[in-house]
Amino acid sequence: MQCMICQSGMQYFFSKTFTQFDLDQVDYWKCSACGFAASKTHLDMSDERWARLNNDFHSQTHYTEDNPYNRNQRYFNQALMLSLMRKQDLIPAGDWLDWGCGVGAVARLLRDYFDLRLDTYDKYFTPEVNAVTASALKPCGHQLVLNTAVFEHVRDRATLNEIESYVKPDSGCLAVHTLVPENVPANPDWMYLLPVHCAFHTNRSMQLLMDQWGYRCSVYNEHAKLWVMFREAPAAIEPKVAALNKAMGWQYLHFKPGFMDYWK
Ligand SMILES: [Zn+2]
Repeated sequence: MQCMICQSGMQYFFSKTFTQFDLDQVDYWKCSACGFAASKTHLDMSDERWARLNNDFHSQTHYTEDNPYNRNQRYFNQALMLSLMRKQDLIPAGDWLDWGCGVGAVARLLRDYFDLRLDTYDKYFTPEVNAVTASALKPCGHQLVLNTAVFEHVRDRATLNEIESYVKPDSGCLAVHTLVPENVPANPDWMYLLPVHCAFHTNRSMQLLMDQWGYRCSVYNEHAKLWVMFREAPAAIEPKVAALNKAMGWQYLHFKPGFMDYWK
C-alpha cells in the first residue's frame, strides 16, 4: 500500500479487533517515511460498505464521537479563535467555508455571537446554517477553508486535495482540526482508533502536506485544538501573531514557520 501523503511504501503496523459494526479485525499500516498511518481494512472497503459503516456508527452514537461537553467547548473555542484571527487580520475577510461541517455548529456560533459568516457544506449531513450545495462551492475561492474532525475520516488523497482546492491561492488559509501526534502509537487501545477513523496524521505528514500545497507557516491553539495554515511568508504572519498574543497577555497562538508541531 502506498502512502497517500508522501507516496512511499507502507508496512503492516498492528491490528485491532472490533466487536461492533461488522468490522472484526482491522489492520493498520504505517508509512516508514512520514509516519502517516491508515487502516488498510477501511481503505479497501467498497464505498457502499464505508457508507453503511458511517451510517450505522452515527445513528448509534447520535452524531457524537466524543464527550458532547468537550466537543461543544471546542466548537466555541474554534469560533472564538477564528474571530480573534479575523480581528487581527490574520485571516482575510471574504468567503469562508466549513467543509464537512456536520450540522454546522461553528458556523452557528460565528453567526450568533461573533457576527461572522461561515458557509457550510457536508456530503452526508444537512447543515442548519449557511448551507451551500456542491455546485455552489467555489474552487480557489475561499479566504478560509475550515475542516474539523474530517482528516481522520478521509480514505484517499483526492479528497484531501479536493478540500484544499477551495482555498484561495496567495492569501487563503486552511484550518484543520484532527489529532496530530509526533508518532502514531502501536497500541490497539489508543483512544483515537474509533470504528470510523481510518487516517492518522503525524507532525511530519502534516509538514509534507503543507509543503505540497504551498503553505509556509501555521498557528495552533490548544483549546480550539485547531491549526490554521498560511500561504503568506512567516515574516508577514508572525508580527500579527505577536500582536494578538501581547493583547491577550499569554501565548494564545503558537506560531512556527512550517507545521506547528505542538504535540510531541
Ligand atoms: Zn508517508
